[in-house]
Amino acid sequence: MSTPPKPVTASCHCGAITVTVPYKPTRINECQCTLCRRYAAAWAYYTTADVQISPAPSHEESAASGAYIWGDKHHGFHFCRKCGCVMCWYPCDVVEGKVDAKEGKQVGVNTRMMRPEDVREVDREVLFDALKMTLGKDVPKEERHVDDGAVYED
Ligand SMILES: [Zn+2]
Repeated sequence: MSTPPKPVTASCHCGAITVTVPYKPTRINECQCTLCRRYAAAWAYYTTADVQISPAPSHEESAASGAYIWGDKHHGFHFCRKCGCVMCWYPCDVVEGKVDAKEGKQVGVNTRMMRPEDVREVDREVLFDALKMTLGKDVPKEERHVDDGAVYED
């Protein structure tokens, strides 16, 4: 018999922001896109229905977390305004109330904010796919990153 999954909580350095997921990551991706490699993030993927983020992701200037929203603007990269740790990427339409979190849209949780002993046995991959990944037609040329080797659909 398997034991029921145990929730795992990630915290920024100062403790102002926590992200709780229902189970340990099954896989960790060190994405090498223009942004994630600069953050040195190591992502695990969950859904908006699964994760509990406290305080909730916000685009307000006064919020505890800031959001860097770039490119196709589908996701914000949320970081603690006090200590600077990047906590997650999260769908903008859920933050803006256009989509219910219960619909279960994908969320990237930065496993570097989890305790090392919680994730040390999780398989890691360094995906270079994003270097050439097509990001869509809705990213204006002037907003593409200078290092971006992606092939766009225009
Ligand atoms: Zn913090």
